Amino acid sequence: MSLRIDILTLFPEMFPAVLEASIVGRARQAGAVDVHLHNIRDYAGNKHNKVDDRPFGGGPGMVLMCQPLYDAVMDVEAQDERTALRILLSPQGEPLRQPRVESLAAPETGRLLLIAGHYEGIDERVIEAIAPFEISLGDYVLSGGELAAMVLIDAIARLQPGVLGHADSAAEDSFSPRGEGQRRLLDCPHYTRPQVWTGREVPPILVSGDHGAVARWREEQMMERTRARRPDLLSPQPDLASETAPNPSHQGRSERPSQP
Ligand code: SAM
Repeated sequence: MSLRIDILTLFPEMFPAVLEASIVGRARQAGAVDVHLHNIRDYAGNKHNKVDDRPFGGGPGMVLMCQPLYDAVMDVEAQDERTALRILLSPQGEPLRQPRVESLAAPETGRLLLIAGHYEGIDERVIEAIAPFEISLGDYVLSGGELAAMVLIDAIARLQPGVLGHADSAAEDSFSPRGEGQRRLLDCPHYTRPQVWTGREVPPILVSGDHGAVARWREEQMMERTRARRPDLLSPQPDLASETAPNPSHQGRSERPSQP
């Protein structure tokens, strides 16, 4: 069965270009991922479709209200019998790295519910109530969680079996576990025709026809690049063992309470 991904957003119109093009489009066409968009505003429950309000205590910006998001989560989850792993895209979440992408892309995940925040943020009480696992794209602030959700979907879709053209191409990428030590190195440099371009030549080993030598050269390049650019990847990574998929029945930060 394909991985089902539900997206809760206030801006569903941001998604089609990304969902239809390139690898994500191919993954959807092949039935590897099944993506459903839902507008949180459809759950506003008031005649002006209002989903945000001013923050208690004053200050700038608006805050996404509890009830529309809570109702959206409950309604969308009921649309499929599989338990969804709730993920809130948030600058305060776990910084996204490849091991987490791999665990979310694994067949055991089954279903993801991605929540894209907007405005100044989301009322904390609904975050406590739905207790999502929180994922951040990095230490900077986006205007909304939509781009972050798209990044996560792209990274997950390309790991679904049969989606990439060459069976091994994901395994050859930066951050993929390699060899006995399952080290996550940066990829080696790549070249294509012409062999000489504006006086710059392709490394001769790559046109030598010696496959063993090419493989060794590539491994050396990966090590060199990683040492030069990301030496942190060569240190022991104590947190890798804990990078298993969060269990949907133990979402994020707190227990799931009964409906407020
Ligand atoms: N006031 C919030 C804070 O400082 O933590 C930032 C709110 S941000 C303007 C609005 C929404 O964008 C967030 O609710 C979240 O969904 C999304 N967002 C912003 N930065 C993000 C990041 N680095 N990773 C993932 N989502 C992000």
